[in-house]
Amino acid sequence: MPATSYPTTQRRYLNDTYLYDISSTILAVEPVPPDTSAGSNKMPYFGLVTAETVFHPQGGGQPSDVGRVVGENGVTFFVDNVRVGENAIIYHYGIFKHEMSENEDGARCVPFRAGEKVKLEIDAARRRLHARLHSAGHALDVAVLRLGLELRPTKGYHFEDHPSVEYQGKLPADKGSSERLIEALTLKIQELIEEDIATELYSTSKAEAASMLSGGVNDVAHFPEEAQVRLVSVGGNICPCGGTHVKSTKELGGVEITRIKTKKNVTKISYRISKGGKETQIS
Ligand SMILES: [Zn+2]
Repeated sequence: MPATSYPTTQRRYLNDTYLYDISSTILAVEPVPPDTSAGSNKMPYFGLVTAETVFHPQGGGQPSDVGRVVGENGVTFFVDNVRVGENAIIYHYGIFKHEMSENEDGARCVPFRAGEKVKLEIDAARRRLHARLHSAGHALDVAVLRLGLELRPTKGYHFEDHPSVEYQGKLPADKGSSERLIEALTLKIQELIEEDIATELYSTSKAEAASMLSGGVNDVAHFPEEAQVRLVSVGGNICPCGGTHVKSTKELGGVEITRIKTKKNVTKISYRISKGGKETQIS
């Protein structure tokens, strides 16, 4: 088990989706036993802990960022998976790669040392894609609300392959066939995109968060009492969320509802986003 004596990782992506690289300090480099390492590569696999990060870990229905961590000595660590461990410490998993002599064994690569300054860089295109995919799920929630559907979002899957949101509740019979609803939801999301509604972020106490949310204390029941709750407003709808979001609904680009399926009391709505989308100009 990894040691957990490091401070909680500072998540720089929480305040800026478009922050793609930062400098930080190595806190630990932990070898990952081969039997638990992801993938089938033969290079030694490590879990890297830094004081701060721009990498979003997998969670909340959103995949992890990928990218690299570069040391001052030219050693590069390629990150292919990011997870949250105990005490909210973020582990960047991947492999080291640097110039090796012919006889040098990969297992003997000298990794970073604790205290070393490094540069963390994420794959920017993938970050923008994930922010759009994830924010489109929020936009779908708003479209559901605007159509007056009595569906409560319970679970999101914002990966590139078949993203969807699951809602508790069934579709009312008087709202017509699912084909008509697919069209109506797509139009509502298009309206949101044209309205160009800015995304807003709040970090607040659990009590204040409860007062801002439509579900009141039920919406924050799972947070510890002393927690600072991160709220996000996408398309004017506030909910607790730790994901990365576009700056405004305009940046969603094209979003299309593809499928609605109800099973028992769960309605799953699938969507897709256009390739490319509106890319933010970095000032
Ligand atoms: Zn979110």
